Amino acid sequence: MNAISIIGKKRDGFELTNEDIRYFVDGYTRGEIPDYQAAAWLMAVFLRGMTAAETTALTLAMAESGEILDMSKVLPFSLDKHSSGGVGDKTSLVVLPLVVACGVPVAKMSGRGLDFSGGTLDKLESIEGFNTQLSREEFMEHARKYGIVLAGQSADLAPADGKLYALRDVTGTVPSMPLIASSIMSKKIAAGADAIVLDVKTGRGAFMETVDDARELARQMVEIGILAHRKVTALISDMNQPLGRAVGNAVEVREAIETLRGGGPSDFVEHCLIVAGHMLRLAGKSTERDLTDVLPTLREKLGNGNAWDIFYRMVEAQGGNVNQIEHPDMLPTAPIIRDIPSPQSGAISALDAREVGLTALELGAGRTKKGDPVDYAVGIIVHHKIGDRVQQHDPLVTIHARSEQQVADAARRLIAAHKWSDHADPLPLFYDIVFSDQVAF
Ligand code: URA
Repeated sequence: MNAISIIGKKRDGFELTNEDIRYFVDGYTRGEIPDYQAAAWLMAVFLRGMTAAETTALTLAMAESGEILDMSKVLPFSLDKHSSGGVGDKTSLVVLPLVVACGVPVAKMSGRGLDFSGGTLDKLESIEGFNTQLSREEFMEHARKYGIVLAGQSADLAPADGKLYALRDVTGTVPSMPLIASSIMSKKIAAGADAIVLDVKTGRGAFMETVDDARELARQMVEIGILAHRKVTALISDMNQPLGRAVGNAVEVREAIETLRGGGPSDFVEHCLIVAGHMLRLAGKSTERDLTDVLPTLREKLGNGNAWDIFYRMVEAQGGNVNQIEHPDMLPTAPIIRDIPSPQSGAISALDAREVGLTALELGAGRTKKGDPVDYAVGIIVHHKIGDRVQQHDPLVTIHARSEQQVADAARRLIAAHKWSDHADPLPLFYDIVFSDQVAF
């Protein structure tokens, strides 16, 4: 077996064996197969695709290229969630405490913002002192002791994925379904997950712009889950407009706190209830696909402060300043907070999530290159969602910025991101759900 024959086999459309894939992934991780051969192989995969068996073999080879976290040492059942990224997606901040409040511990590794899409770690780090950089041992100890932990991925988690992802980034091979599906699932499996709820976003503010593409990615990841003996449910949710109203870091933490205290925007609350419900279902706490048996409890846990208490416990355990979450006005605050009025009356018919995300990035809420510092204080509040009616001169958005120039630039972009018409229907929160027993091979 050698790299050239494996590249040729894929180039000519033949199915690779588990051994072929292991040989290639292990050789590349150890530095024995050079970048130029791995690049050729990635392009062959990009052009030819992969079968479910190949994608699963690639997932497991990447997951096992580093140490797999054995969460069974500290948790009876390891439950995880993953969002494919989006604008205003602060779901983990609410869903984790909510699920834990229902008696199911959750230990989750999260990522940072990427391009127009925000990242949970950046949001959490807007709380002074919050430590997202836990060692493996600390991560497991927090899971055991507090039943909740939310931290960054350790560097040695699925190292083959890290290396291959960097190569994909510069060889035009990122947008390949099997490569994306195996990349996401390898990290979840390496983090020790027994069961995973995947929140696959679709629309203007998502990496999968069409529902069909999101459904296909969801199906491939559920397929990997079945073959790798993990329980997986994949939700396909809307990301044409931002989720909730806040987009940024501290502004999103404030919205999450409001939600954990029984308030929050209705779309965000409903989204969190559904994600949490499917997590409880995978943990065996619900038998109904429509979640009717757990939704009342979930609502109660948000309303009665139980989920908030768990969030407080997590922030305290990870060294965060609890004064700031008790008094969210103490979180980082921008020097200028300005309402921008609607230039016209009508029903909001479009609110381009990608443009809102890019504007937040321009304000400094994200990074334009790896390692850039993030400004936790800046951000955007959108006051109306698609389908809402707005009167001319009423606040359309609120901009949290550092300078008048930033306010002017952001206002222009955000107004252009909206469209008005006589009538517009609200967008659905979810388009589809893929359950394991629906996937046929
Ligand atoms: N997220 C990942 O982790 N990997 C991909 O390939 C794309 C999105």
